[in-house]
Amino acid sequence: MGFWNRRKEENDKSLECFNQEANPKGTKSPDNQQEVTCKPAKKLKIPLNKTTSDVKYLQNSIVFSCPICNELNTVELHDLDPILGGESMCMHCQVVLHIPGGYRTQSEVPKIKVYAGLPVAIKKFSLFYWNHPVIQELDEQGITGIVIQYGMWGFCQRCHHQFSPAVLINLPHTSGEIVDSRSMSSDEMMEMKSLRAGSCPYCSHRILLAIISEIPHYVISASENLAHRWEDD
Ligand SMILES: [Zn+2]
Ligand SMILES: [Zn+2]
Repeated sequence: MGFWNRRKEENDKSLECFNQEANPKGTKSPDNQQEVTCKPAKKLKIPLNKTTSDVKYLQNSIVFSCPICNELNTVELHDLDPILGGESMCMHCQVVLHIPGGYRTQSEVPKIKVYAGLPVAIKKFSLFYWNHPVIQELDEQGITGIVIQYGMWGFCQRCHHQFSPAVLINLPHTSGEIVDSRSMSSDEMMEMKSLRAGSCPYCSHRILLAIISEIPHYVISASENLAHRWEDD
């Protein structure tokens, strides 16, 4: 959790909630201070994913330095979707990575920005989500639903299980909040139950590696085209 501690120096009181341990030992204190400081309505300054734009094209692969450990990684282009890109793991430090698509020509490769997962306590995920500038911008345009298709990834930091965005965006701000689970599969409901209690259902770890990326225009227009196709039917 060293990353969070570094941010402490910014003297931003709102970050205190993020700096607290995943174990919510303060939640039930009589003055209930944690609940007050972490109210979702208040805008928090949150840490963002580290990225690298040092991306090169080499023999049908892209080569980039890991945003976390700086070691070189290679991903073959045929492992990536031209629009959705793909997820990978740093061979050196095991952080999860998101590599955007949109590299149809070699000349576009250097414009790609690779995202590394950010450790976020499961209990803090909804705060991270709702205070993220990308989500706030989508919210203003009324299109947050697009992150179900693209823009958000969450993995258990220990066992690397990937949770679906549908589960992650439904994680409530408070433990009392009712979740609309109608759109979830039974596996997803089981995952939701465990995540609401603050831990991974598969290994009990309490921290996610989360990524929220900017949503490129080609993804938004691909998704709009798809929506029009459905309307035509
Ligand atoms: Zn690395
Ligand atoms: Zn796990």
